[in-house]
Amino acid sequence: MARRKLQRRSLQFASRAIHVGQEPEAATGAITVPIYQTSTFAQSAPGVHQGYDYSRTDNPTRTALQKALASLESANYCLAFSSGMGAATTATLLFKHGDHIVSSRDVYGGTYRLFRRVLQDFGLTFSFVETSNVKGIERVMTRHTRLVWIESPTNPLLRITDIRAAAEIAHRHGALCLVDNTFASPFFQRPLALGADLVLHSTTKYLAGHADVVGGAICLNERSLYERLKFLQNAAGATPSPFDCFLTLRGLKTLALRMREHEKNAIRVAGFLKDQPRVRRVYYPGLSSHPGHEIAAEQMDGFSGIVSFEVKGGLTGARRVLGRLKIFKIAESLGGVESLVELPAVMTHASIPKEERKKSGLDDGLIRLSVGIEDIDDLIFDLESALKSQG
Ligand SMILES: *Cc1c(COP(=O)(O)O)cnc(C)c1O
Repeated sequence: MARRKLQRRSLQFASRAIHVGQEPEAATGAITVPIYQTSTFAQSAPGVHQGYDYSRTDNPTRTALQKALASLESANYCLAFSSGMGAATTATLLFKHGDHIVSSRDVYGGTYRLFRRVLQDFGLTFSFVETSNVKGIERVMTRHTRLVWIESPTNPLLRITDIRAAAEIAHRHGALCLVDNTFASPFFQRPLALGADLVLHSTTKYLAGHADVVGGAICLNERSLYERLKFLQNAAGATPSPFDCFLTLRGLKTLALRMREHEKNAIRVAGFLKDQPRVRRVYYPGLSSHPGHEIAAEQMDGFSGIVSFEVKGGLTGARRVLGRLKIFKIAESLGGVESLVELPAVMTHASIPKEERKKSGLDDGLIRLSVGIEDIDDLIFDLESALKSQG
């Protein structure tokens, strides 16, 4: 009796990351999902196969990854892609000429580029608004609006949007709500439970977590939307390789462990930076001084591992700090076990015109940290040394 009860109980997050979609392989008992490195599958008669006919359409290693990710986002379905941008491009194929999309102003630079410099030429129209004030969304909704695209927390200012309120506005106007959940990961935030229709990930970041693979995913609950996206996944072909799926699955197994450490270290780093005389401002949603702190505390289970801060002396001051850091490596990307640092104004956000950057509050002296899971004393020492020698 007790045992039966135990079996019925659904697994917790950390266990699902290790087991869902990852049963021992039937033929050999292999404990790890194999890399099904094959392009095609033998059919016993024309059109008769075991669920797999061609690896763009479906591949068993990808199926395992999709099941695991769906489970972590508490979603009915997941589709994996060759990159976060592959996922984003495929999602926008749901729409057509004349459709209007409302987007967070400080979305990921690649998303902004896709919208502004690619899709606009296909007749999609866009409004970029500060979605941390949800009233701004309401103001730009039209009868042609089909999608509200939210990023929360945003990159690099960690702005927070009330996802429940944004989804409610989208739905009232007959539009869908998509949340790019890359910065939080499903460990800290599950947007579908807050009313979003689609969750997008760059699995390159926290989900894979080891800076060794590029990938993307979309998770969702609604069946007909899933079927359309599944059709588009195969039709457009931005699908991940079996090896990339294997690497992402391997990273995923430790997601819960890693996210707890990322957050613990980020809280310490944010607290340290806040008291430094050479630091003008610290952006971290876990700080009670952060404008989105209350909403973040309400809709997230934690504040994740990205910390941004402004140093005195603008770009010159920021460059000097980066030049002195030793453990934090200067690189784009984020969410891996190793700590990274970057200057948005000259790296990730350089393609956004200076005027636009200024409008969205992005100072040239802003530094973004992806706080890794190294020993916290080493990270603090590294930051302390780099800031101390500031002239
Ligand atoms: C990196 C990133 C993307 C794009 O993902 P790729 O895997 O690099 O294509 C999209 N959104 C956010 C928030 C990201 O950080």
